[in-house]
Amino acid sequence: MKEKIHPNYQKALVTCACGESFESGSIKKQLRVEICSKCHPFFTGKQKFVDAGGRVDRFKKKYGLVDK
Ligand SMILES: [Zn+2]
Repeated sequence: MKEKIHPNYQKALVTCACGESFESGSIKKQLRVEICSKCHPFFTGKQKFVDAGGRVDRFKKKYGLVDK
């Protein structure tokens, strides 16, 4: 049996763009996410933009969801 083939799965500190942080399992020690359960519209029930680089706009354009 060879060892260290698999990445070391461990607890990771996930930090969201909204400032929320929580622990999760990952092969990385730290993760950065742009949206989490605290700020995702699906969970908050309201529209909130945490777009940092126009990615949401590009996404909307791609799928024809831009408000006119
Ligand atoms: Zn968040």
